[in-house]
Amino acid sequence: MSQFQYDLFVIGAGSGGVRASRMAAQYGGRVAIAEDLYLGGTCVNVGCVPKKLLVYASHFSELFRDAGGFGWDVATPLFDWPTLIANKDKEIERLNGVYQRLLEQAGVQLYSGRATLLDAHTVEIDGEKITARNILLATGGWPWIPEIPGCEFAISSNEVFHLPQLPHRVVVVGGGYIAVEFAGIFNGMGAETDLVYRGDLFLREFDREMRLQLADEMREKGVTLRFNQNVAAITKHGDELNVELDDGTQIECDCVLYATGRKPRVKELGLDNIGVTCTDSGHIEVNDYFQTSVPNIYAIGDVIGGIELTPMALAQGMAVAKTLFRGEQSTVEHEHVPTAIFSQPTLASVGYNEEDARALFPDIAVFVSKFKQLKYTLTDNTEKTLLKLIVDCASDKVIGAHMLGQDAGEIIQGLAVAIKAGATKADFDSTLGIHPTVAEEFVTMRTQTR
Ligand code: NDP
Repeated sequence: MSQFQYDLFVIGAGSGGVRASRMAAQYGGRVAIAEDLYLGGTCVNVGCVPKKLLVYASHFSELFRDAGGFGWDVATPLFDWPTLIANKDKEIERLNGVYQRLLEQAGVQLYSGRATLLDAHTVEIDGEKITARNILLATGGWPWIPEIPGCEFAISSNEVFHLPQLPHRVVVVGGGYIAVEFAGIFNGMGAETDLVYRGDLFLREFDREMRLQLADEMREKGVTLRFNQNVAAITKHGDELNVELDDGTQIECDCVLYATGRKPRVKELGLDNIGVTCTDSGHIEVNDYFQTSVPNIYAIGDVIGGIELTPMALAQGMAVAKTLFRGEQSTVEHEHVPTAIFSQPTLASVGYNEEDARALFPDIAVFVSKFKQLKYTLTDNTEKTLLKLIVDCASDKVIGAHMLGQDAGEIIQGLAVAIKAGATKADFDSTLGIHPTVAEEFVTMRTQTR
């Protein structure tokens, strides 16, 4: 009989925690998981899934406009935000149920409540003490809003999914994934949308040429981009908000959405009780195998920082389950991580951007193609698709693929397999295209641009 109630106790039933606990249970472990908010975590409840539904919803406005060129007479379309939110909520509720059943079927014991670490093998939930051989911290992150006068009038990505009505005028603050995606969502739904970003061009870590093109496309679609600007103060006058920028500009609006990053959710977890160390940014410090400074305590997902994406948390959860229950010391590669911003149009990437590739490789070849896709030729839509391949000349390997355009996420996902497998430019060139598609351009780019 083991001295512990469980082999693994997971704190946080988001993407990473659920994956780790299910795999651990499948490998024969006695596993429990605690969750104090909602099953599925940020991704399912206030992140990837509802966000993508909102992106789909907002893109209809453009589809209705384009339909005319193909002979459709679409009477003035009307959009009802409460219907969308109610339908979205129903779907999220269904997914919460799916997660619960997956845990039950895997034999994982679910505790509803906030877990606190008492010592290296004991957690407490609502006064109940539970012991485990190993503990996994997967508590995720939480939106962070800087302290500026009037910041209490701003909402974060936690609240934006539950607004009772679509605001007519929105100011989005930030230049990361969430800010750019929501600026597109609100604009597509017909709200007057301003995006305020402190730097000279948003999405700092992406390829500059792609970001410039995205900025052009967003402006063309109606978003007001205000770069090199900071918010000085927000004031409220009746139902109306006023956003004052550093340069004195005043923007009247109905909603201010801050998307200025997220902080790890470690408060009241009891890390100090047991000496789990954190980095300067407040993330839990782990080694390559997701082990914290306390050897039987592991941590994964947004709470450890790094690449804060759902597929990364899933992979880390799998790795911990394998390390603990299969005896295979497992880690996760940080190279070739594909990613997409569901902006309108979508920006997706895998591998190096041109700036980093130039710094890291002695000689690179860059292939760029920019064109109006077939679908828009019968419409007034001026959107351009931009594709880019970056090749290391020494090995001929494709080390970066970038796309700005409809379905970029779907297309780059396929290319990510090729790039991970070490495909060369010659492999791309000898692959036949599927005609007529946008993606075929990736295998027909023969003329080096730079
Ligand atoms: P990000 O870290 O992506 O971006 C934060 C933005 O806020 C940056 O532009 C940053 O500017 C700016 N910022 C930070 N501090 C301040 C400040 N004090 N004043 C003004 N601006 C500030 O965070 P998000 O909140 O957008 O998203 C969190 C994470 O969630 C992402 O990094 C991503 O990992 C994940 N995510 C992934 C999605 C996807 O896969 N499609 C979708 C949504 C989120 P600067 O660049 O100058 O530092």
